[in-house]
Amino acid sequence: MPLKLDDIDYAILESLNKDGRKSFRQISREIKVSAPTVKARYERLVNIGLIKAILPIIDFGKLENKTSIKLDNIRSKTIKNHGVKITKGLLVKLSCDYCEGPVQGKPSILKFANFERFFCCTSCRGLYKEKYKGRIEKLSGKIPPI
Ligand SMILES: [Zn+2]
Repeated sequence: MPLKLDDIDYAILESLNKDGRKSFRQISREIKVSAPTVKARYERLVNIGLIKAILPIIDFGKLENKTSIKLDNIRSKTIKNHGVKITKGLLVKLSCDYCEGPVQGKPSILKFANFERFFCCTSCRGLYKEKYKGRIEKLSGKIPPI
């Protein structure tokens, strides 16, 4: 007998379709169902083979055009994603998380909680830190798990 998807299954699939990186807790808050239920339903969807994989969606526009030249000494280990080859050593363009300008040279990095933000210069990093001070402190603090 086939398994009938209910509202919860549907809500989980819809939520993961937008962003497969979400935690069970995030989905739980979003669809207003407990985290253990989300986990159990997710696992069932995997076990019955409906969810086959959670895959990254790669933004190919972020890759440098000239990267192939620099691949000389790199063993060719490639991943095919939508027909485009992903190779070790590919260069990914970075844009500043504050001014959105291109990051030339070594980026200035800010890490907090699970996040990592990249900036073109230390002043953009400082301005970002100032702008999102409250949120950064909240995310870095110890939030009790549910
Ligand atoms: Zn900047």
